[in-house]
Amino acid sequence: MNQIIPYGKQEITEPDLTAVVNILKSDFLTQGPAVGAFEKAFSEYIGCKYSVAVANGTAALHLCAMALNVKPGDKVIVPPISFAASANCVKYCGGDVVFSDIDASTLTLDIEKVRTLLKSAPMGTYQGIIPVDFGGHPVQMDAFRTLAEEYGMWIIEDACHAPGGYYTDAKGEKQMAGNGKYADLAIFSFHPVKHIAAGEGGMITTNDEALYKRLLTLRTHGITRDQSVFKNSIAEVGGDPTTGQYPGWYMEMQELGYNYRLTDFQAALGQSQLERADSGMEKRLAIAAKYEAAFSTIKGIHSTYVKNPSGEKFRNGHHLYIIEVADRLGLYNYLRSKNILAQIHYYPIHLMPYYRALGSKPGDMPVAENYYAHCISLPMYPSLKDEEQAYVIDCIIKYINE
Ligand SMILES: *Cc1c(COP(=O)(O)O)cnc(C)c1O
Repeated sequence: MNQIIPYGKQEITEPDLTAVVNILKSDFLTQGPAVGAFEKAFSEYIGCKYSVAVANGTAALHLCAMALNVKPGDKVIVPPISFAASANCVKYCGGDVVFSDIDASTLTLDIEKVRTLLKSAPMGTYQGIIPVDFGGHPVQMDAFRTLAEEYGMWIIEDACHAPGGYYTDAKGEKQMAGNGKYADLAIFSFHPVKHIAAGEGGMITTNDEALYKRLLTLRTHGITRDQSVFKNSIAEVGGDPTTGQYPGWYMEMQELGYNYRLTDFQAALGQSQLERADSGMEKRLAIAAKYEAAFSTIKGIHSTYVKNPSGEKFRNGHHLYIIEVADRLGLYNYLRSKNILAQIHYYPIHLMPYYRALGSKPGDMPVAENYYAHCISLPMYPSLKDEEQAYVIDCIIKYINE
């Protein structure tokens, strides 16, 4: 095939173009009404009370850590297999990242290992947990909630890989990834390889009103326009105290925030894409099913992402489709020579030089390290054509059987 087949790719349709152009012709360019509309639509899709759109997924993580008051000395538990930003947000606030290994079958944070870690230290040692719905596998968040309550910890769910995925909680209720039912806050990214592409962009979801209000302020420099919470007096800011009103221009910076706003044209693009989220999800599931059918009988291919173990009760969001093979480098290079740009997710965060310098080393996270030695992510995106996927499957089977 002459066509390059990447592991992930955005799709821009005519309605997407129209949505963006309409904003460019309107009065708003940065955060305006399209941001609010996107937030509302996103809350409905995920099934949470509040959504806060921000500049990117990393900014979303940073604001979550700030809103939960992460400070120097705090210890936060993070899985080693994720994008580095899942851990970095703790460092932005001066906290310490404590890695805890993944479970080999789900590739997400192993709750039993977290429990052992918590038991081995005095109560109050750890402040938070950041489970990641890795590859699209929604973490069983109710179990983490129970554990977090026991130890007085908060939870940020990194749901970047799993919009549209769901699991069933112990009460038998279906829970969408990132819906804020059990996590304090959850985050999503709108980077082009993610389910919804807005160029850059991120979303924080929550059911907690106080955290929601704090996030709105942190997103714009820590500045609020809400008169009811102003600290300076009307006279101090040049108003007429006899009116009981602050002057119309006055806004108050009450804490240190950032400019992490999303633009209106990005929000319009995001919302336009959100409208096809269901069909995109169906396509991802169909692609995964084809890979699974093709590889299940092949010795030498361990297909990690099965899976819908309990029918309607669980749905992998399928940001990725990962297989594990013995000769990963050989397969990777072979696929490149065939114009198939598979990718590796991820080099373990604890082995990045930055984190090694903070004390972690090879051997610390054996499950993650063994997974990394064999994993490879195959093309997975809604616009992947049947013949392209058939070609990818043929190339892989040919290489493995040679
Ligand atoms: C993409 C991603 C992020 C960061 O999102 P950006 O929008 O690129 O900043 C964080 N966590 C995970 C798991 C991701 O995949």
